[in-house]
Amino acid sequence: MPELARRFGTPTYVYSHAALTEQMAAFDAAFAKLDHLICYAVKANASMALLSLVAKAGWGFDAVSVGELAKVAKAGGPLNKTILSGVGKRDDEIAAGLAAGVLYLTVESADELEAISRLAKARHTVAAVSLRINPDVDAGTHPHITTGRAYNKFGMTFEHAAALLPAILADGYLRLVGLSCHIGSQILETTPFARMAKSMSEAARALLRRGAPLQYLSIGGGLGVRYVAERAPSPTDLARAVAGIVRQTGLTLVLEPGRAVVANAGMLLTRVVRRKSVAGREIVIVDAGMNDFVRPALYGAKHRIESVTSRPLRRRPVDYVGPVCESADTFLRTTSGPLLREGDLVAICGTGAYGTSMASNYNGRLRAAEVLCDGSKMTLVRTRESLADLWQGEHSTQGVAFDTAVPAQLGEIG
Ligand code: PLP
Repeated sequence: MPELARRFGTPTYVYSHAALTEQMAAFDAAFAKLDHLICYAVKANASMALLSLVAKAGWGFDAVSVGELAKVAKAGGPLNKTILSGVGKRDDEIAAGLAAGVLYLTVESADELEAISRLAKARHTVAAVSLRINPDVDAGTHPHITTGRAYNKFGMTFEHAAALLPAILADGYLRLVGLSCHIGSQILETTPFARMAKSMSEAARALLRRGAPLQYLSIGGGLGVRYVAERAPSPTDLARAVAGIVRQTGLTLVLEPGRAVVANAGMLLTRVVRRKSVAGREIVIVDAGMNDFVRPALYGAKHRIESVTSRPLRRRPVDYVGPVCESADTFLRTTSGPLLREGDLVAICGTGAYGTSMASNYNGRLRAAEVLCDGSKMTLVRTRESLADLWQGEHSTQGVAFDTAVPAQLGEIG
């Protein structure tokens, strides 16, 4: 780690090639006996190097925007195994999905279905679609990452989907190939998956009986991971909960895991900038902030923080915080954490998912570098942003672009 920090600086996302490929193999093995397709949820981590490793494993992708679709294509992902989903797809995004020949587009409403039909007609093509069902299953997750309750903005009821069937069957520009569902994220029990698989399978059978040419049943993503001490189900546990139920439909099971694939294949390497004492607590300020990794601020997520420093460390009440001007920029408050010194290196663990993909330039901060480690080989897969990236694409009040030179007043910093 010190070598990595020396070569690439901090903060840096560090990914383990072995951990990523092992987790993909665990999914493959768990579902090997069932007709299935795994479509990695790009939103969890859209770094091109990781996308290309996922493509190499033969997986498909779940993209929620034309941006993600473009990244999948650029990384060599198979578009005919890629789903285009998302609750607010614009017409140009639907058109791009049709042009790209995606496996199917998920449909979130009757209006969206109409738009897809209209755009397919304009292209003289037939759009493969999958209706996103909201099964009203409580997945027991944080409210911000629950998606399958009746009051969430996603999908439609079974009744609504069934009512749309005659119009879809009569529409020469639509082919209903699937039913989709995603009930939430960081789900730590398999019971909600089993419940959802059961009601989705029943709904699929009902539509098949009425002549729907269904081929796929997607149960989305959502499998939880161990961040601190959680008991997370494995891909095998998930397969045990759903495979028997889905097999009876004769449909291909589609999975859209994101977090469970990449979360524990990544960590955020950061360095202590400063230390201070406030109201009897030690405050350790590191050079990564909520702009780099927002989950603790956004969801109150807990992540292990480990010292990379080898010397013995005293433990005491410590807050590990970032430098961003928000009190929410706190990674962890602990009653017994290693008391670090300026310059020490720290790893924020389990940050491979929803880390870099949610990063921003808030507070004028540069997005972190990313490094992929394969054995002793360390490859820089994303260059740290430069100061000029902060004004790249911006124009003066006269509409003139700013050049990339760092203002001379700042001395050597650029
Ligand atoms: N599929 C859909 C439709 C989603 O909305 C999400 C996450 O929001 C996922 C898959 C991936 O979920 P996770 O990263 O929890 O596996």
